[in-house]
Amino acid sequence: MPVTTVDRDDVGHHGLPVPDVVLLTETDSDTGLSTERWRQRLAELGPNELPPRRGQSWVVRLLLQLHHPLIYVLLAAATITAVLGEVVDASVVFAVVVVNAIIGFVQEARAERALDALVAMVRTEVTVVRDGVPMRVPSAELVPGDVVLLDAGDQVGADLRLVGARELRVDESALTGESVPVTKDPLVLPPETALADRTNMAYSGTLVTSGSGRGVVVATGAETEIGRVHRLVSTTATVQTPLTRKLAHFSQVLTVVILGLAAFSVVVGVLRGEPFAEMVTAAVALAVGAIPEGLPAAVTVTLAIGVARMARRNAIIRRLPAVETLGSTTVICTDKTGTLTANAMTVNAVVVGGVRYDVSGIGYAPTGTFTPSANAAVRDCLLAGLACNDARIVEDDGRWQPVGDPTEAALVVAARKAGLSAEDVPERVDVLPFSSERLFMATRHANDVIYVKGAVERVLDLAGLGHSAEAEELAAAGLRVLAIGRAAGAELTEEGLRGTVELLGFVAMHDPARPEAIEAVHACQAAGIEVKMITGDHPATARVIAAEFGISDVHARVAPEEKLRLVTQFQADGQVVAMTGDGVNDAPALRRADIGVAMGRGGTEVAKQAADMVLTDDNFASIRAAVEEGRAVFDNLRKFIIWTLPTNMAEGLVILTAILLGAALPILPVQILWINMTTAVALGLTLAFEPREPDVMRRPPLPPSLPLLTRTLVGRILFVSAILLACSFWAFRWQLSAGASLEVARTVAVNVFVGAQISYLANCRSLVRIRPRTGPNRWLLVGVALTIGLQLLLTYVPFMNSLFHTAPLGWQPWLVVFGLSAVSYVLVELDKWRHRLLRGS
Ligand code: ATP
Repeated sequence: MPVTTVDRDDVGHHGLPVPDVVLLTETDSDTGLSTERWRQRLAELGPNELPPRRGQSWVVRLLLQLHHPLIYVLLAAATITAVLGEVVDASVVFAVVVVNAIIGFVQEARAERALDALVAMVRTEVTVVRDGVPMRVPSAELVPGDVVLLDAGDQVGADLRLVGARELRVDESALTGESVPVTKDPLVLPPETALADRTNMAYSGTLVTSGSGRGVVVATGAETEIGRVHRLVSTTATVQTPLTRKLAHFSQVLTVVILGLAAFSVVVGVLRGEPFAEMVTAAVALAVGAIPEGLPAAVTVTLAIGVARMARRNAIIRRLPAVETLGSTTVICTDKTGTLTANAMTVNAVVVGGVRYDVSGIGYAPTGTFTPSANAAVRDCLLAGLACNDARIVEDDGRWQPVGDPTEAALVVAARKAGLSAEDVPERVDVLPFSSERLFMATRHANDVIYVKGAVERVLDLAGLGHSAEAEELAAAGLRVLAIGRAAGAELTEEGLRGTVELLGFVAMHDPARPEAIEAVHACQAAGIEVKMITGDHPATARVIAAEFGISDVHARVAPEEKLRLVTQFQADGQVVAMTGDGVNDAPALRRADIGVAMGRGGTEVAKQAADMVLTDDNFASIRAAVEEGRAVFDNLRKFIIWTLPTNMAEGLVILTAILLGAALPILPVQILWINMTTAVALGLTLAFEPREPDVMRRPPLPPSLPLLTRTLVGRILFVSAILLACSFWAFRWQLSAGASLEVARTVAVNVFVGAQISYLANCRSLVRIRPRTGPNRWLLVGVALTIGLQLLLTYVPFMNSLFHTAPLGWQPWLVVFGLSAVSYVLVELDKWRHRLLRGS
């Protein structure tokens, strides 16, 4: 029988009793679908994904490239020029505009594609029951009829009709805008119940904030409620950050100033008796040349390249501004378990009745022995650990792997080493789950025994006992210690258990440090970043492990809500804080931190949603990689800006100066447009691909208040503008005085200008050093070769000669081009050298 989703308009699933929903979706609310049936449905209905975002069409986006006041002015000027009969000049301007628009369009499209691709990299996983076995699967694999288990921190993967709920609360703000979590319950509701009040449904895209539940998938993909919303609004990705906004503002101000200067030059020129139309064209060229139109787009491209590099190193950026902030991070607050350590737990020792039993074997293979050998009391303790447990171990290709919490899996392994197995555990009837606040877990079994395990001081407290020297000793050896206890006939609540628990013993497990994380912590410290350990573990354990990493600031037994306080406190001290987290309760701290870092594997969906960055391997080394790339991005942004501003400025200045001096233009407006168009992309943008400098992690973090352009760099911009201006003017005059034609003199001036731009590009590969210490930049070499090729075309192809008023050159002027480029290069390097002397570095 073919599978159909129920027609929701007939009767919503919320209006049906559970058995009807189960019948309609042809499933079994206990065992779920069979794998075979699931596969059939998946093939039939397709994956549970929203259709790709439909943004603006490419035509609109291409036209939007022209939506710039300056372009309007340019087009108007070209039209005037055409009307006045200068059709060739006018068409060159039109061509320039079109080519510029296409280049901008391609750049932006590439940047957006890179950012879009990231969305898919953070995959949502859900727990589904198939063939009676719970398993984690990507949410894209859900089909109607699947039985899904919900737990605090999960994102709901599809629209579910709930069949069971225990204190289940769901944050539906993504769908309804209501920020207070809604309490859920499987009870049938009247058919007319509004979406926001359908408490027996859990909708795709919403977040489970507490409790647990079970539901049957009734709609997937575009059929879900969020899918409908998605179809109504087609959102566009915003690629704005504080920096791009600042730069856009800067460009705007600059535009106004330059337009003022351009108007001024028209007035001066006309007063001097120059033809009006010529002055307008010159003024427009001045404006087009001087205004860094491409700046915001180029910054976006640079950021996107940085984001792609970070993704390759396991750090997925969820919010673009994080790329900038990463470069100025001064404090990293990191979890211990899983981030610094491998979260591969092995029980090393069990202490029962004051006797320590060492356990042999490493990893999750259930083979090993106890010394001295395990007696009945040890087995009692380990049985409790096996009972109060949701994990299991599986053998895969000869390797034993944990399924579930590694801490619990380690207890399973220890119990198996003592000869116990799941059959020895009486059936479980109720559970008080572990949480980072409660710090213990308890289960009630069919024989009315309650097993308890958890943090030492919590279980000792439940047992009415004080401090334990044995447990302290284990913790002081850097081991993770759990106390294990048992109670009979008590109520399964914290209060009910207090005073009724009998302590059975302590279990101590080893969690090896990740070697690459040790190295990464040192790298961050060398980079002037303070690394703090914030952990839920015991202070003694945490201190030993911190020492292994060279971390001196440890905050242990920190409850998630205290993390928020810590972040706020560090920020009040003027720090830029990165904070890791994985649980639901970490979300406020992640949101508050300058960089919230969520764990991609072990983290909950709630934490991922709150974070700025997600680590796909949960590893501290990836935070370091992200910081390193963040700093490199910032470097490249500065290099690009430092390169582009003087070239723009000089382009405008050449024309302004000539008009003000009443001299012949050394470079014609169309030639300025040519230079502007070819070099901005072929030369400038290649700096976005610069490899990172080897010493990025040996410098202190840049204070966030530091302006993008320091006084030194502003000085450099003015200095280089003057060099470019002087070189092109001098070459032009010199050629004229040597008897060259205007065309030839201008061609030389244009080539000198571009030559100096190329040599300045080489200067910009390092802002302070004479020779860049980075490896070769392939794109830069391609760009330079391309530019040289284009200049040769401009100089020697007759068609280009007539379009751009250029003329072929002999070999002698090229010596001037090379000579002046070299002089310019040396002058800039001398400037760097002078500043280094001044700074004494
Ligand atoms: P980090 O913040 O570094 O990741 P953590 O993972 O050690 O720290 P929690 O998972 O909150 O922090 O664990 C805190 C304490 O709770 C542990 O020291 C341990 O004693 C106890 N504990 C951990 N997992 C369980 C569990 N599954 N059942 C019972 N108790 C546990």
